[in-house]
Amino acid sequence: MRTWSRTFVLFALCVTLAGCDFCGMSSIEGSTKRFVTTVPQGYVSSYILDVGEGKVVLIDAGGNAEATEITDALGKMGKSLSDVEAIVLTHAHSDHIAGLAALGSLPIYAHPGVKTQLGEETSATLTKEIADGSRITFGARTLEFFHMPGHSPGSVNIIVDGMVFFGDTAASDKEGKVRLSPGFFTDDAEQNLNDLKGFASKVEGVEVDTMFFSHSAPLTGKAELEAFVAGL
Ligand SMILES: [Zn+2]
Repeated sequence: MRTWSRTFVLFALCVTLAGCDFCGMSSIEGSTKRFVTTVPQGYVSSYILDVGEGKVVLIDAGGNAEATEITDALGKMGKSLSDVEAIVLTHAHSDHIAGLAALGSLPIYAHPGVKTQLGEETSATLTKEIADGSRITFGARTLEFFHMPGHSPGSVNIIVDGMVFFGDTAASDKEGKVRLSPGFFTDDAEQNLNDLKGFASKVEGVEVDTMFFSHSAPLTGKAELEAFVAGL
């Protein structure tokens, strides 16, 4: 069985075990907003950031071991893997790292908390370890990182020029509200909630254009994040 199929079967099994935890979540679609192109692979998405000077940065390698959705999306942008400056991981759950092998020997940036899972599931190693609060510049874009260990040990949120990437530390529902990802996949839901409270206060003065979630549709602004944490 192809790895993509294995990943899908595993995912379907998890969804079954998780009951209807996914039912209220909005669905993801391919789109480009400002410098961010969303690349869906069924139930999970990766992102291509245009950082200028002909270069791009990938956020997450996706759930397809052949990474065809990502290479196709790069092709539509007139780019190839040689234009990818780095792959930045929101975390190392298998549906976010399965594409690494097909993407070659590109530099991989992630929080060191991903190392165990990355080592168990891939032959990839980290090029650069990202610390909480660090900022890394690629071309014209600076990415800022926030460690969010509740979902998984190496989870981070990323902000770049008003675009916020939550990975799986949050999701959106069909009513356009913020919610947690299904608990079945989260290591420590209580910590996850504390992470989101802390994150919301850290970005209090930050203008947010769009919030992106790996398994559900994006939301405009950050009002729904503020409403979610206010209700905790
Ligand atoms: Zn996850």
